[in-house]
Amino acid sequence: LPPVITIDGPSGSGKGTIARLLADRLNFALLDSGALYRLTALAALEQGADLTDEATLTEIAANLDIRFELRDGEVAALLAGRDVSHDIRMERVSMAASKVAAMPGVRAALLQRQRDFRQAPGLVADGRDMGTTVFPDAPVKVFLTASAEERARRREAQLREKGVSVSLRDLLEDIRARDARDMNRETSPLAPAKDAVELDSTGVAIDSVLQTVLQLVRE
Ligand code: C5P
Repeated sequence: LPPVITIDGPSGSGKGTIARLLADRLNFALLDSGALYRLTALAALEQGADLTDEATLTEIAANLDIRFELRDGEVAALLAGRDVSHDIRMERVSMAASKVAAMPGVRAALLQRQRDFRQAPGLVADGRDMGTTVFPDAPVKVFLTASAEERARRREAQLREKGVSVSLRDLLEDIRARDARDMNRETSPLAPAKDAVELDSTGVAIDSVLQTVLQLVRE
């Protein structure tokens, strides 16, 4: 089986950026597992589904018609052929994604789909449970963290770049609520795998984190 590098951690820890840079550098495929939960949430919101109804949400996750495509150097997420890359990043969808991700049925429905991303010469998998549940045999596992304050500041800067202004306090509250849900759920709670290397990116430049991870890969 082709090797997998897992990058897990809370939202805003920089894992998405690191995973993408790493995949580029190594010419590996990339799995953004959070996008699958976001797509499930978006599909549910668009259908007006009851977000607390696990049976319905599981059904939606199992039947998702999704594709990832390279468009202008960016990975676009397609839901039933429609580019929803922008929609799945909305705060409303982030919140819904973190709720549907707490449902064991939804997680089970998305498990094989995630494993199917494994391909030669290798895969970089970004998420919360890549190293613990989805690819427990991965030879390189990273658990990337950063303080909640720093993660809120990064998110605010990202949004400001897009011309969206939000209060740092609201973002911090959202981040804490999502962290709590991710860490306290019964199925695959957010936690480092026993054999993961933990890195704290608070106050550390992205390139320096990337160099550290590349070093782990070479070892
Ligand atoms: O990483 P991202 O913020 O895009 O993930 C969206 C949501 O999906 C997270 O809040 C988390 O609850 C959930 N998720 C998960 N397991 C993963 C990836 C994401 O539960 N492997």
